[in-house]
Amino acid sequence: MKKEILLTPGPSQVPPQVAAAGAVPIIHHRTKEFMEVFGRLIEGMKKVYGTQGDAFILGSSGTGAMETCVVNALSPGDRVVIGITGKFGERFSLMCKAWGVEVVELVREWGHIVTPEELTETLSKEKDIKAVFITHSETSTGIMHPIDKLGPIVDEYGALFIVDSVSALGGLEMRMDDWKVDMVASGSQKALMLPPGLSFVGVRGEKAWKAIEASKIPKFYFDLKKYKKSIMKSGDTPFTIPVSLCLSLDESLKMILGEGLESVYARHKKMSAATQAGIKALGLKLFSDHLSYVESVFTVPEGIDGGKLVKVMTDKYGARVSGGQEPYKGKIVRIAHMGYVTHHDVLLAMTSLEMALSEMGFKVELGAGTKAAEEVFLS
Ligand code: PMP
Repeated sequence: MKKEILLTPGPSQVPPQVAAAGAVPIIHHRTKEFMEVFGRLIEGMKKVYGTQGDAFILGSSGTGAMETCVVNALSPGDRVVIGITGKFGERFSLMCKAWGVEVVELVREWGHIVTPEELTETLSKEKDIKAVFITHSETSTGIMHPIDKLGPIVDEYGALFIVDSVSALGGLEMRMDDWKVDMVASGSQKALMLPPGLSFVGVRGEKAWKAIEASKIPKFYFDLKKYKKSIMKSGDTPFTIPVSLCLSLDESLKMILGEGLESVYARHKKMSAATQAGIKALGLKLFSDHLSYVESVFTVPEGIDGGKLVKVMTDKYGARVSGGQEPYKGKIVRIAHMGYVTHHDVLLAMTSLEMALSEMGFKVELGAGTKAAEEVFLS
């Protein structure tokens, strides 16, 4: 018999009650019954975003929310600064270039972050910067950016601050209003504990709406003005929303807000501390000093085939983890702990890692990683 648990940085595990909430006969999206749910979802998402502004729910993957930010905030010829610390910062850059936006790339080696000092230096040198793009949790490397510190810097220079929080929202704290974050893109299949298919955009307020009004990039489906108009007029969406996923979101938000955002964030911190203690206790090296609380990443030790390690952990021991993406394919292993995660998941990750390493000939003391993780849970 095969039993597999998802420990990948998206899609992540979906709680049974969240899956069940969507597995009901379909209801029509232009009904009072659905509008009631949808209104609740918008209010719930605003809480998760930490904003009194707007939260939009779209039928798309996370990349659609990223594109929504780009095409609504900018015009061809605008200049922007993009922090590129991995694959997803790079995606923002490719997207902006595709829309005729001039990009100043702030590239950091994989595993590193853009520090507040580096961002200040760039903004003080570059002229006419319309927006700054940063990845909250860079899923390809496992790092997180200090959004709370970067936001006020961007604001001081008068630029829009646009954040990809696709893999972070619901696992890492987000306070758009307090941290002066103008737009945030997120996705459903990560810490929000849903299947893929919904994406979210938070819009903080006047500064962002001014830019949206002035934007000249052509758009149709992702036009936020249409979504805003539709909400104001009738409390729904301009196009058919994935109704079943919305019903599931209603349940996942109930779980997240019921547990309390502070407690959800503390749980993610605990999962990350336990996983990282376990990794270190096995004699492995963490990939970065800036690892986020939603994902732990380690460097594959010398002499071990990284691809095979992921395969053994997944296929033989049932912990589906992820390897590295280019250029770190085979060189790192990524264990996610986002969303529906407790000590069960961390301990499974540890036991499967210990057994896989041991059978591949890497000298480990069986139980050492598990013990270190358990000590964190008991502390
Ligand atoms: N940004 C980040 C940080 C991500 O982790 C992902 C998904 N791995 C995306 C963007 C893209 O999301 P999607 O695959 O849902 O389009």
